[in-house]
This record gives sequence, structure tokens and C-alpha cells, in this order.
Amino acid sequence: MQDKELLEKIAKILQYSNAKSNNQLVNYQSTAELTEILDLNKQSTQDWAQLFVWVQQYLNYSPDTSHIGFANRMWSGANAPSILGEVIVALSNTSACTFESAPVATLMETYMLEQMLECVGFKQGEGQMTTGSSNANMIAMMVARNQASKDAKQQGLFNQKPLFAFVSDDAHYSLDKAVNILGIGTENLIKVPITKNGEMDALALDKAIGKVQKNDGIAFFVCATLGTTVRGAYDNIEKLIILKNKHHFWLHGDGAWGGAAVMSPILKAKFLTGIEQLDSFTMDFHKMLGSSLMCNFLLLNRQNLLSGTCADGDNSYIFRDNAVDLGVNSLQCGRRVDSLKWFLDWKFYSKQGFSDRVENYYQLAKFAEDFINVSSELEMVGKRTSFNVCFRFKVQEPNTFNQNLRNKLLKDEQALLALAYIEEKLVFRLLISNININQVKLTALLNRLINTGKALQGNG
Ligand SMILES: *Cc1c(COP(=O)(O)O)cnc(C)c1O
Repeated sequence: MQDKELLEKIAKILQYSNAKSNNQLVNYQSTAELTEILDLNKQSTQDWAQLFVWVQQYLNYSPDTSHIGFANRMWSGANAPSILGEVIVALSNTSACTFESAPVATLMETYMLEQMLECVGFKQGEGQMTTGSSNANMIAMMVARNQASKDAKQQGLFNQKPLFAFVSDDAHYSLDKAVNILGIGTENLIKVPITKNGEMDALALDKAIGKVQKNDGIAFFVCATLGTTVRGAYDNIEKLIILKNKHHFWLHGDGAWGGAAVMSPILKAKFLTGIEQLDSFTMDFHKMLGSSLMCNFLLLNRQNLLSGTCADGDNSYIFRDNAVDLGVNSLQCGRRVDSLKWFLDWKFYSKQGFSDRVENYYQLAKFAEDFINVSSELEMVGKRTSFNVCFRFKVQEPNTFNQNLRNKLLKDEQALLALAYIEEKLVFRLLISNININQVKLTALLNRLINTGKALQGNG
């Protein structure tokens, strides 16, 4: 097939994909059924027609994440400007490791990082785009490790005082992975109890640090979760700053989900006071703010630490200008161009647009909570503290019932909703991250859940 013909075909599929968003949430098939349909063993050497069959199947059987019924993760269908960016990036096929190979992407990423430093309030900072908040959390911890244990980079952690990292009980599991990767050890990741609102108990943190220090350990890193994955709780930055000044640990902010509040002056003041005093901060632009996956940045509140931490080995064959080449600061060699889509989104919506968006989501979360509180079928589990609405259908044996209700909504192709546990309770975790949602559609979604639940009760 000629390039031109191929591109015309792709353009048609893009239209199809766009039209699809008004129709079906998902064409649900079991793993066995789908394996049968896809026939992945089929030979197709030089066979474009068969490739397009698989492309159609890919689209047919993937959930339409821009559908209102898709409230399963922390993101929904992507912003249109970022989709444009993604298509162009695939066409240009280059790596954002050097200016030479990706000149425009390099300048766009640098520009966007400066914009974010300003939003967060890091006056003399630096940053990089990473592959996601899991990775960004790990890099922040690595920077902190190498600051706390100056020989760690050269000698490893052998013969060093043991290092301890602290997170709340509700922190993201990427921190467990980070201590594993970095040689800290999972037993040296201390999970600090949370208050009844779900935020890290600062008093308990102080005690836990004291205990570690008494045994000659170094408390080198604390991660404040800024919007926990299930409840949406924000660890109190100001309380943690006081402890940072006392114990001199590195204070990182994991704002993967809730960091987006930084766009709105009102919500920033409500949830992120003191953010400019953190040592580092990460946020996923692909979550609440809707850039296409993956779109993440990590910021440090100081300069020249990223390259000092990440650069190793003889890289003279690749880098030409350490001041400009972004790969110098990275743990990767090849770097996907994630900056074009990010830049296009930023220019199209502007900070004000993103501020309006998060404020609207916040209002809608409150609306959902009010709806649930007056509903006779549903109940909130835990109070809503920010964007996350955790609730369940009120019945006997609620865990089994809510699991069945969720499965039925999916099999009936009605909704794809997230489940999570709060203590021992299985709950629906409603996160609003779809720009097309409004009170009417949210009401319809919740009513669909209630009606399906009632039907399920009738059968039981
Ligand atoms: C989603 C999330 C992460 C992981 O982010 P990825 O970009 O998926 O790696 C980390 N921390 C929190 C609080 C999250 O919500």
C-alpha cells in the first residue's frame, strides 16, 4: 500500500473512532471469547487488509473511554489537541533525548516545565517529563537517596546507615516498587497511619521518625500524597513542612491525581497550601486534565540535581549539549515525545481553562455526594474530602452485592465503574474526569446504577 493510500485509510478510521463516542460504551466479551474472535495466530505477511481487520477489532472491543459510562480510572477520552499531537508524534518518529533529534519537542518540553514550575511556585527549580507518576515518585526518591547518602551512587547502599522512607497507609503502591528498585527495601518503607479523613497523621509520622533515628537509621524521604487514589485525601503539607524543618528529610508531593488542583487558585489554596516549599512534586497531566496517556512531569525545587543523580556511564556518543539535551536528566535513553500533545493542550485550553475544568469537577463531585446522601438506595462510605466520591448500594451482604452490581453493569454494557476497598468495605469509587459530563448525565449514570441494583435485588 502506498503511504498516501494508507494515510487516507487512517483518516477514515479516525472519523469512525470519533463517531463511536456517541454510541456504545463497550462491546463486552470474555477473555476466551475475545481470544477466539481475534485469531492472533493468523498469518498476515504483507497483508494490509488483515491488519485493518485487527485495527477494527481493536476499536470495536476497546471500551470507549470518552463515554459517560466509563468512570473506571482516573482519566477518560483524551483532549482533542493532544490527540492531534499524538498522531503527529507517531508520524515524526523521533526521540526527545537530544535537541538534534527533537528540536521543537525539546523547546516545548522546556517551555512547559517552566510553566509548571511557575504554577507550583518553585522559583529556582528544574524538571523533566517522565513515563508516569510511578516513575516520577521513584526518581524523586532516588534524588533524595543520593542526597542523604552521598556515596550511594558510587558504592551502593552497602556499609551505609539504613535509609527509611515514609508514606501514608493510603499512599500509591508505586512507592513500594520504588523502595524495591532503589535498594531501600520494602521493610524500610514505613506506612504511617492516617486520620479518619484519610490524610497522613503528622503526629504518628513524627513518632515513627523518632523511632527510626533512635536505632541509628536515616529518615531520608517523606512522600505527601496530594489526592489519595481511593479517598482523594490530601496530606497536610504545612504540618509536614514543620517536621521537615525538624528532621531534614526530603519532602516529595505525589500529586498524580489531585495535583491538578494547582491550576485553580481557589482549590490550590484549599488543598495545596505550602506546595512551593516541597522538595519535589509530580503530577499526571493525563489524569484530571485530560491529555492523552502518558503525560507526566516531575519538578524539583532545586537545580542541577537531576543530571547529577541520573547521568551515568559514557554517553558521549549521544549528547552534544548538556545544557539543552533533555536526555541528560533522564533514566531513559530513548524518550518518547510527550511534549507536543502537552503543549497543544496547554495552548488550546490555557491555565484558566484547566482551572475551570477542575473547579467544575469539584462541584460535580459535591453534586454526586449530595445525590447519594438523599438517595434511599445508596450510601457514602467515608466523607468526601475532595474529588473522590466513595459509595455503595445499601443492602445485606454489601460486598458481594456491589461486586455483582458492578459486573452486571459491565456485562450489560451500561457502565464501567471502579471498585476499591475502604477498610473492609467494597465501594464504588467515582472519579469525574470527563469533560462531557454534567449534572444531568451524572444523574442518569447514578440512576442507571440504582435501577440495575434494584433489578438485581429483585432477582435475588
Ligand atoms: C495514578 C497514581 C499514581 C501512578 O501514576 P502513573 O502515571 O499511572 O504511574 C501514583 N500516585 C497516585 C496518587 C496516583 O493516583
